[in-house]
Amino acid sequence: MMEFIEDARRRIRADFRLGIYLSFAAMGMVFILPLAMVRLLQGDIPRAVLDFSITAVIFFALVYAWRGGDLDRLGTGASLTISVGAAVAVSINPAGVFWVFPVLLANAFLVAPRLSFLVAAAMLSFVAYRMYGEGGMDQPLSVLGGLAANAAFATVFARSSGLRRAQLEQLATLDPLTGIENRRALDTELVIALAAFQRDARPIALAMIDLDHFKKVNDVHGHEVGDRVLRDFARLTEGSVRRTDRLFRFGGEEFVLLMPGTDDLGLELAMSHLRLRLREGLRAGGEPVTVSIGGAILRRDESSDAWRARADAALYRAKAQGRNRLEIDLEPR
Ligand code: GH3
Ligand code: MG
Ligand code: MG
Repeated sequence: MMEFIEDARRRIRADFRLGIYLSFAAMGMVFILPLAMVRLLQGDIPRAVLDFSITAVIFFALVYAWRGGDLDRLGTGASLTISVGAAVAVSINPAGVFWVFPVLLANAFLVAPRLSFLVAAAMLSFVAYRMYGEGGMDQPLSVLGGLAANAAFATVFARSSGLRRAQLEQLATLDPLTGIENRRALDTELVIALAAFQRDARPIALAMIDLDHFKKVNDVHGHEVGDRVLRDFARLTEGSVRRTDRLFRFGGEEFVLLMPGTDDLGLELAMSHLRLRLREGLRAGGEPVTVSIGGAILRRDESSDAWRARADAALYRAKAQGRNRLEIDLEPR
C-alpha cells in the first residue's frame, strides 16, 4: 500500500494532470456517488442515472489516465464531459454554479488554449443565460464576475506552466552544440522503439557513429574547428538519412542513429550513402574527417542495453580494423 502511494506521488509529480483526474474521482466518490444512491432510494431514476453516469465517466477517465493512456486525447473528452455535467447541474439548481469553478480550472489545464477558451466562453454564456435570461436581472453580478476572473487566472497559470514545462523538456533533451537530441532523449526513444518492435516486429537498426581521430582535429585546427565539424556532421547526417531516422549525440564525438523499418541490407545502403555525403562535406581545415560505424538490428527479446552493446562492439571492430568503415553485428545463421 505504501509502495502504491509512493508510486502514485511520483507519477503525479511527473504529470500533474493525473492529479486532476484523481481529485475529480475523489469528489465523485465523496459527493456524487452517495447522492446518486439517495436519489435511487427516493425513486428519482433520471437524476440517479445521470449521477451514476458522471461518476462512471470520471472513473473511466482516471483508469485510462493511470494506465498510461493518451492524456491529450483524454483531456478533450474529459473537459467536454465535465463541462456538460456542470451545465446540467446549473440548469437543475442555481447552486450548481459552484461546480463551474473547478470545471473552468480543470479545462484550462487539460486542453489546448483555444478549446479551453471556447469551452469557458460557452460555460459563461450558459450561466449568464440561466441567471439573467428569464428576466431575473436581480441576481448578483459577483457570480458571473467571479467565474470570469477564475477562468482568466486559470488560463494564465496554465499557459505559463505549460510553456515552462515545454522549455524545461527541451533543455533536458537537446544538445546545445549541435541542436540534435541528446543521450537522455535516446533513452526514451529506445523504450518506444522496443515497444514498437514487440507490437509489429518491423526491423529497427541502431548505428553508433564515432568520428575518427577527432582528438587530432582539435589538436591541429583548434577546438572551435572541432565544434564546427561536430555541427557539420549533425547537419550532413540529418540531411542524408530518412526523415523517420533519428540522430542523437551520445556524447563527445559519438552519435547514435535510430532507424525504424531498416534491416541489415537497408542499414548498409544508408550508411554507404551517408559516408559518401560525409566524404564530400565533412572537412577540418581542408582535410577530410572520416567516421567509423557499428550497426546492429534489434533482436527479438533483446534489451536496449544489449542492442546498443552489440552496435558498440561492432564499432570497436571498425576502429580496430583501421577506421573509416562500417561493421554490422549480423545475426548468426
Ligand atoms: P578514434 O578514432 O579512436 O575515435 O580517436 P579519437 O581521437 O576520435 O577519440 P578520442 O576518444 O581519443 O577523442 C575524442 C575527442 O573528442 C577528445 C575530446 O576532446 C573531443 N571532444 C569531445 N567533445 C567535444 C566537443 O564538444 N567539441 C570539441 N571540439 N571536441 C570534443
Ligand atoms: Mg573518435
Ligand atoms: Mg569516441
